[in-house]
Amino acid sequence: MTKKLVLIVIDGLTPSMFESAETPALRFLADHGTYTRATSVFPSLTPVCSASIATGVHPDIHEIPHLVWWHRRQLRLVEYGSSFGAVRAAGLSRSIRDTVFEMNRSHLGARAETIYEALDDRGLVTGAINFICYRGRTRHLASLPGLPPVYAPRRFFYYSLFESDQTGAPIAVRSRATGSIDAYAAAVGRWLVTRDGFDFLVYYLPDYDFASHVEGPDAAHEALARADTAIATLMGAAGGWDEFLARYSVLLCSDHGQSHVDRIARLEVPGALVTASNRAAMVYTDDPRGAAETLDGAEGVETVVFLEDEAVVARRDGAEGLDVLDQYPDGLQRAHAALRNPNAGEVLVSAAPGWEFADLAGRHHLGGGSHGSLTAGDSLVPMLAVGLDRAPASLTEIKQVMLEHFGAGVAHAA
Ligand SMILES: [Zn+2]
Repeated sequence: MTKKLVLIVIDGLTPSMFESAETPALRFLADHGTYTRATSVFPSLTPVCSASIATGVHPDIHEIPHLVWWHRRQLRLVEYGSSFGAVRAAGLSRSIRDTVFEMNRSHLGARAETIYEALDDRGLVTGAINFICYRGRTRHLASLPGLPPVYAPRRFFYYSLFESDQTGAPIAVRSRATGSIDAYAAAVGRWLVTRDGFDFLVYYLPDYDFASHVEGPDAAHEALARADTAIATLMGAAGGWDEFLARYSVLLCSDHGQSHVDRIARLEVPGALVTASNRAAMVYTDDPRGAAETLDGAEGVETVVFLEDEAVVARRDGAEGLDVLDQYPDGLQRAHAALRNPNAGEVLVSAAPGWEFADLAGRHHLGGGSHGSLTAGDSLVPMLAVGLDRAPASLTEIKQVMLEHFGAGVAHAA
């Protein structure tokens, strides 16, 4: 009999941090599973990665390009929350609307199908807690008046703003630094497991990434311990951890890695619009080659990619050649898919090790951690499969592995 399935996503967790973790719930799962290091997408930023996890495709199909991007049809910036300052600079209410509603309603590509849509259509009960890519088949009303409804999984919990069931969980957004969002997920998850409330659940724990941005990669041990407690709570709701694994298969991963930041650059290209955040930037320009050449030797820039006659051109320190991309995990494939995203800039910039690009408001994570580039540190993620046939090698394989688990193996879009 096919077990029910929980996808656990610990935002920003690096493979090395997972592999050395001594926390009990993670160790228990690792002892029962198959582990590999898998590859994220580019840019390796949460909105882009979450959409790839949920849809099984690269950004050329799901169309979420970055944390901050230019909306060509609406002639405006979209900012999903690079920092509070960047959100304010882009317009607070507009940014909240984009992040909470439009990312799923109008930005997420119509050609992409989410795992919730696929499983909902097969009659399975889907659920998601706080995962930012949520498009599904069930209409939900917000807990605050005046907000539009959303279409999401059957069991849908989103930062206390949407709650398909009354679980008694505390308010999610009280204190990021002490892990209130993961604590909210734990309370909701315990409620759902106790009631056998889903066939498939995305259990998203974002507080680790928040802490790792401040403390640096592989340093946020307290935050990891709190994520571990949230997983322990979820499993304990089954009456015991062995009982949990008797009922559920588990796929545990992160969405991207993190690397250390010790230098900040402000990226500018004369005559072009630059959208920069964390360790990736995009340039919207009529002259991609000219813009790329302008960035030769620019502070913080390692590799610049653009399309010429549909083909990828990769440029580093003024030299061109696709071998530039060989140093990165799945470098060519990820760069190509990122460039073919209709919402992406014409030129994409991957930061050099140690560098971060200041965002719209000039904010950054100097002395801490960041991600977004093509480098292995930002791009490799831990991937642990428990009770599944295989561990996906890429974020874009997760959906297919989950569909295969439910016996719903459908042709994977090329
Ligand atoms: Zn992050």
